[in-house]
Amino acid sequence: MRPDKTDFIDEPLIHRLLAETAATPRDEIETMIDRAAAAKGLDLSEVAALIQLEDKTLSQKLFDTALAIKQNIYGRRLVLFAPLYLSSYCINDCAYCGYHKGSDAVRKRLTMDEIREEVKALEKLGHKRLMLDMGEDPVNTPIEYVLEAMKTIYETQDNKGEIRRINVQIAATTVEDYRKLKEAGTGTYVLFQETFQRETYAKMHRKGPKHNYDWHTTALDRAMEGGIDDVGTGVLYGLYDYRFEVVAQMMLVRHLEEKFGVGPHTISFPRLRAATGVDLATFPHMVNDEQFKTIIAVLRLAVPYTGMIISTREDSEFRDEIIDLGISQMSAGSCVGVGGYKAKLDAFTEGKRPPAPDNTPQFQVHDNRTPDEILRHICEAGYIPSYCTACYRTGRTGDRFMELAKSGRIQKTCEPNAILTFKEYLMDYASPETRAIGEKTIEKHVTEIPSAAIRRQTIKELKNIQNGKRDIYY
Ligand code: SF4
Ligand code: SF4
Repeated sequence: MRPDKTDFIDEPLIHRLLAETAATPRDEIETMIDRAAAAKGLDLSEVAALIQLEDKTLSQKLFDTALAIKQNIYGRRLVLFAPLYLSSYCINDCAYCGYHKGSDAVRKRLTMDEIREEVKALEKLGHKRLMLDMGEDPVNTPIEYVLEAMKTIYETQDNKGEIRRINVQIAATTVEDYRKLKEAGTGTYVLFQETFQRETYAKMHRKGPKHNYDWHTTALDRAMEGGIDDVGTGVLYGLYDYRFEVVAQMMLVRHLEEKFGVGPHTISFPRLRAATGVDLATFPHMVNDEQFKTIIAVLRLAVPYTGMIISTREDSEFRDEIIDLGISQMSAGSCVGVGGYKAKLDAFTEGKRPPAPDNTPQFQVHDNRTPDEILRHICEAGYIPSYCTACYRTGRTGDRFMELAKSGRIQKTCEPNAILTFKEYLMDYASPETRAIGEKTIEKHVTEIPSAAIRRQTIKELKNIQNGKRDIYY
């Protein structure tokens, strides 16, 4: 067997499981959900049964259980990040993407000076955690470019803030390159599978290195071999039957668990969106809102300890709804073209909506609120925003992180870290309205910390932040 051969996605088995579980009796479905409520996960045939749920009452039970699991493990915190697109040059020909080779997208690659300007703007918006993203082009954006960009980002400091964690989402590469990315300070390496179905994959990725299904599907193995022990995955929902994709996604999770002792750190939920040169009418597997909610909830039950991420591809109202299904991270105030944060910040400062970017975005954003508006809304919904980056910086990654999550001890750090990083935001960047509701939110969450010792320590650190101290974490 070649090392890059994908032998862990078993298509005939997926079809068989879906067929066998299509008419699972109601009481069996209820038992599965009840069992999963104890955060024990789901086996593949349970995933296949639940992903086919259409009964409204059972779906509601599924959604409620997803929320309860997320809150039991991570509490009511929502971690925020921003994507930073470095370059739209791309030699691949992905049928669903505005940057595909041959599209008339206006291309751009950020210089190091432009990266500095963008990072300062992101810092002024309050961000501490970035997701680097770019097209694949070994000539315009070789690995050395990414490494230099990461160094530039970590070195760029606005007078009040700095980027504390860079996650990286670039094309599948070699173990050697992953090793370099790790050394440069990569937190989580993320690669969306797009679709696990081999034939659809070939149709969607018509040319370029990404056309190679096996190379792409085994990239997370190579990332882990290169020392990146936090990896992220995701399917682009809308390319193929979502029921197949969810079972296949779980096969990848099980594969990583068996081979490396730890599954993915995050799973993202991008849904196909309109983009330049992409006609959505040509995609027969578009996923509606109810189906999308079922996908998120089933995966929350199946992998209770994995971070689940939603992006600004979803509109603001729907994002609020799906947070309640167990989402633990979201992007805020995103630019999905190359550059644009500086212009955005200038517009926000003047109380205007941001101008259109001077280059083509990768896809259309549907949540256009400012980060400050999003934070306010998170507080109103009973959650607490978090800019925490502590685990990565204290070496709680890979299996060490999972051990903490599985023992329930992670909540002891997540909640106080959310409170402390949100306090920094309120002191340094918030509007008066957000500061007002934010302070009340902090007060409420402090009183809810179960351990008296941690509560006392958190109150002490809040005073330290009030007096000018920054970057306190557990
Ligand atoms: Fe390039 Fe990524 Fe778009 Fe494919 S999805 S065309 S690899 S930028
Ligand atoms: Fe994430 Fe760890 Fe911070 Fe919790 S303590 S928010 S898991 S980085």
